[in-house]
Amino acid sequence: MDKIITSVSDETIVYPGGCVYLIHFDKPYGHASHYCGWSSNFPARMKRHREGRGSNLLKVIQNAGIGWKVVRIWEPASPKVEAEIKRYHNSKALCPICAPRYAREKAENLKEKRRLLRLERTSS
Ligand SMILES: [Zn+2]
Repeated sequence: MDKIITSVSDETIVYPGGCVYLIHFDKPYGHASHYCGWSSNFPARMKRHREGRGSNLLKVIQNAGIGWKVVRIWEPASPKVEAEIKRYHNSKALCPICAPRYAREKAENLKEKRRLLRLERTSS
């Protein structure tokens, strides 16, 4: 995992030994807003995804009219890395589109908590 690419197109040529890619959905579908996969042939895999083959989730979101794009690639990376990322269960924090927003929301929540605490203190 020497390289992280965040400017990706479907045709981005990646290390032939395999890469892990993170897909961001334009709109969440239920609880799903990202898809993580591994491939040894990235352009071919993207073609399959665009055709609605290769991943049931991507097929479903495409049928729902939701667009998606690859936002991040880790390479070279084994399927183990994919498993690690999936286990992490927080793709948002790894997504270059969501992470700034996610960090801001977390900060705002913290601010909101502090504000509530102050209110509680001043009212007692
Ligand atoms: Zn995202």
